[in-house]
Formats: sequence, C-alpha cells, structure tokens
Amino acid sequence: MKGFTSIIAFTLTAFVSAAPTINRHSSSSVPTYDHCVQPGHFALTFDDGPFQYSWDLAKYLHSRGIKATFFTNGNNWVENFDTATTSTSDGTKSYIDVLKYYHELGHEIGSHTYEHKVLKGLTTAEVEYQMNQQSDLIYKAIGQRPRLMRPPEGELDNSASTVLNGLGYSNILWDIDTKDYELKGLAHEQELVRGVVDTDSNGHISLQHDVHESSAVELTPWMIDYITSKGYTFVTISECLGISAYQ
Ligand SMILES: [Zn+2]
Repeated sequence: MKGFTSIIAFTLTAFVSAAPTINRHSSSSVPTYDHCVQPGHFALTFDDGPFQYSWDLAKYLHSRGIKATFFTNGNNWVENFDTATTSTSDGTKSYIDVLKYYHELGHEIGSHTYEHKVLKGLTTAEVEYQMNQQSDLIYKAIGQRPRLMRPPEGELDNSASTVLNGLGYSNILWDIDTKDYELKGLAHEQELVRGVVDTDSNGHISLQHDVHESSAVELTPWMIDYITSKGYTFVTISECLGISAYQ
C-alpha cells in the first residue's frame, strides 16, 4: 500500500511540474497557457504596443532588474510603423528601434497580430496574413521570429487555433487581468491584482497595455513593488513556461 501511494505521489508530482496547458481540444490545437509553471514566478506582459510610452517603460523595467514580455502589433496605435518615430528620454527613435531596444534589454517580443484583428471567424488566409506580417516585422527588427502569441481579446476558434499551431505558435493568455484599458484608475487595478495574488499561490501571468501612460508610469511601478513584497521573482514568458520565445 505504501509503495502504491508513492507511485501515485510520483505521478502527481510529474504531472504538476509539466507545463500547464489548457483548452487543448485536439492534437492540432495551438498549445495554450495562462499561468507560470512554477509557483513564485510572475510574468508581466504588455499588449497593443509599441507606442509612445514603450521605450521608457522598457528602460524603467530594466532599471528595476526586470525582464518582461511585449505582445506587439504593427498597425494598431501606430500608423506607418516603418517610418513613424517616437520621442523618448534617449531622443527620437523609430518603432523598429523600440523593438530592437526591447530585445537588447532582454525583454521578449511576442505577436498580438499585425492589425489587432480578432482571429475568431477569420479565414485561414486572413489568420496567416495577420501572423506572417507581424512575424516579418519582428524579424526585421531582431532577426528572430516569434513563437509566443496572444490573440486580441483572447479569442480563438478551432480553425484559428489549428492555423496558429501549424505556424508554430504558442497561445499565451493570462490569469491576472488588470483591466487597465478601462482607465478606471490605479485603485481599481490594484484591487484586481490583489484579488488574485493574495488568494492564489500559483505562478502568474498578468496583462497590461503599454499604450496607456497610467499603465506605464503608475500601475507598473506599483505592481513591481507589490509583487516583490509578496516574494515573487519576475520572469519572461519563456522562463515562466519553460519554452523558447522564438522559432
Ligand atoms: Zn490587445
């Protein structure tokens, strides 16, 4: 009986330490994750950029010794990505420079589609266009193609999931939603973060949007202080899940 119990314990341990995947409908569905494998790990993720706050947010995170993950678009808040520029504390930079800067500082770059298109309901060709355009843009900046993607609004259907799997992506969701895009203020966002972190000892993936100044200059510094005070270590998504960020 004792031997039987330890076999079960061993099996459970092996299961728990495997990377968590959810919503895996079939073998052709894209691998999907919503929290870090290790308790004590915390991955900050930022969607919808880059935009005018992104360079200095990346710099600020670096100054705090933190590497984060940015799920980027090419045609969302910035028009004419290839030629647009942004003013930063280090002078005027192109948005390709911003992507390069993320990479230089050790932040990871994922795809959030080219045009922030909800992929649910799109044809195979339309999903491929959104993913390949953004992959080309990231490749132009850093010479690597993303494996990590986050679907706009977190929405996929079976068809889009199969296309993403075929293109080699992993679908990265979240288990802490700061709802910073609602712009309801820091106190509201703090309540949402505390509501998960104070009750759930899992490793976490949190969702922010670096296109909002308040997220870059208020919410992020508070989160770093609060999450650190709870004993977490900040990680990139590749560290959080034990998978590579690029393909
Ligand atoms: Zn988005």
